[in-house]
Amino acid sequence: AGGRPIHVIEGPLMDGMNVVGDLFGQGKMFLPQVVKSARVMKSAVAHLIPFIEAEKAADEARTGIVAKPKGKMVIATVKGDVHDIGKNIVSVVLQCNNFEVVNMGVMVPASEILAMAKAEKADIIGLSGLITPSLEEMAHVAREMQRDPYFQSQQMPLLIGGATTSRAHTAVKIAPHYDGPIVYVADASRSVTVMQNLLTPETRGAYLAEIQADYEKARTQHANKKGTPMLTIAEARANKADLSFAGEDAPVKPKFIGRREIKNADLSIIAQYIDWTPFFQTWDLAGFYPAILKDEVVGDAATKVFSEAQAMLKKIIDGRWLTANGVVALHPANRVHDDDIEIYTDETREQVAFTYYGMRQQTVKPVIDGIARPNQCLADFIAPKGTPDYIGLFAVTAGLGIEKHEKKFEDAHDDYSSIMLKALADRLAEAFAEYMHERVRVDFWGYAPNESLSKEALIKEQYQGIRPAPGYPACPDHTVKPDMFKLLQAETIGMTLTESFAMSPGAAVSGFYFAHPESKYFSVDKIGTDQLQDMAERRGLTKDYLERWLAPNLS
Ligand code: SAH
Repeated sequence: AGGRPIHVIEGPLMDGMNVVGDLFGQGKMFLPQVVKSARVMKSAVAHLIPFIEAEKAADEARTGIVAKPKGKMVIATVKGDVHDIGKNIVSVVLQCNNFEVVNMGVMVPASEILAMAKAEKADIIGLSGLITPSLEEMAHVAREMQRDPYFQSQQMPLLIGGATTSRAHTAVKIAPHYDGPIVYVADASRSVTVMQNLLTPETRGAYLAEIQADYEKARTQHANKKGTPMLTIAEARANKADLSFAGEDAPVKPKFIGRREIKNADLSIIAQYIDWTPFFQTWDLAGFYPAILKDEVVGDAATKVFSEAQAMLKKIIDGRWLTANGVVALHPANRVHDDDIEIYTDETREQVAFTYYGMRQQTVKPVIDGIARPNQCLADFIAPKGTPDYIGLFAVTAGLGIEKHEKKFEDAHDDYSSIMLKALADRLAEAFAEYMHERVRVDFWGYAPNESLSKEALIKEQYQGIRPAPGYPACPDHTVKPDMFKLLQAETIGMTLTESFAMSPGAAVSGFYFAHPESKYFSVDKIGTDQLQDMAERRGLTKDYLERWLAPNLS
């Protein structure tokens, strides 16, 4: 009863999607349901497209009128970055709301993004990124748009999103590079309003004025924060955490020195170590697992997406959809020059495999009960030369073989399952890191042979030692990864790095193991240019090079 094919889309399908869009906007429907409705829409559209194209061509030939979409966005994960869950969610949400989206995928250089925006006559460009080096790459895209009269003259908006981005960073570090509108989009659900505001001539001006004022405020806040009292790097070192490496705190020698691979790890064991809370965050559902399943607002949506996750997880495990490989290496190590860790090839400690250059906190620490908190650095957790100490390295992935299954879902226009699969692969990689860490503590290194903790206690990190990962607060420096990957021979288990030091496959974790009972996660935060200069000298690198990679920690 639909009549012409286009009427099926513009009629019942669009009506349905509009209801979904409205309910989502009102907070009465949640992301998993929206993405799932898109599946119906997209397969229907895919089926009807050939008929519509034929009709459209005939119509255009007859009337000379070319149908215009509501607005078009070219979206990409920037060069060097491989994560695309958030970007794919935004694509689907926008498509549900009648926008056209050209999704360029991951690791896309600026030149290709801009060329595509021109070729597609896009109205807006959207950028996504997960790791901190992508922030610099986004600023680069903004500069390239500024240089190009095509974007300049039409003031094409640039949208910024992804885990590593923020309103403050967008305002302070990206917006100044481009005259046109730059808007930070906090989550997928906002993307529709942002697109509408920017593409409706009546609202655009007022909306941009509002953004402009808000970013000005963010820049002022940032400038004021710059006044946070900082120590010189020498003062910070003088206030380091002074740990004991004797008695109960004496280093334990690992059962073996060198590397060990775990190939084809059992996914059904790994799955038991999954921390489910971040899974719900991926779907924009706020709350802790398991309480979230009974949450008044999101409980039903959470329960549904959770049970569908369990069903897919079973398929992943039974069908061996994903291969999980990991490698650990345990090595003699000592602290040198206050902040660095020399990692030796063997117990003679004569050959340095590589030196890890640590970043030390430089902000003034509070005095609690008369005791000043230390200015921490990961090197504090390793004994200085003279006391034999050890460090571990690891890299794990659960994303090998994912492409084939992603493609299967994408070919079927099933974004919901594709996003679900990526989210589960990420969960399995983190769970693998948890599982491997436990084996290291109890067995490989064996410094906690009698540990017996519940899965909940593991997620709460109630064990001895930490596994800091490059790119996270205690070691924000991604440039250490090539050294780690070399010592681990990570390529033999199928893991590589991009030019921005993102790990491939994307569902991966890598880091160090520290065993000291006092070792705890912390955040390096802002460092001074004196530390930057000092580190550049220690590493034999130029200050400019290092500045680029450590930019997020420099004010
Ligand atoms: N259980 C969570 C862990 C997320 S954090 C999950 O399943 O998602 C991801 C990894 O970052 C951890 O496995 C740990 O290796 C590392 N990490 C966490 N906090 C850190 C910090 N402050 N500094 C450095 N690395 C950190």
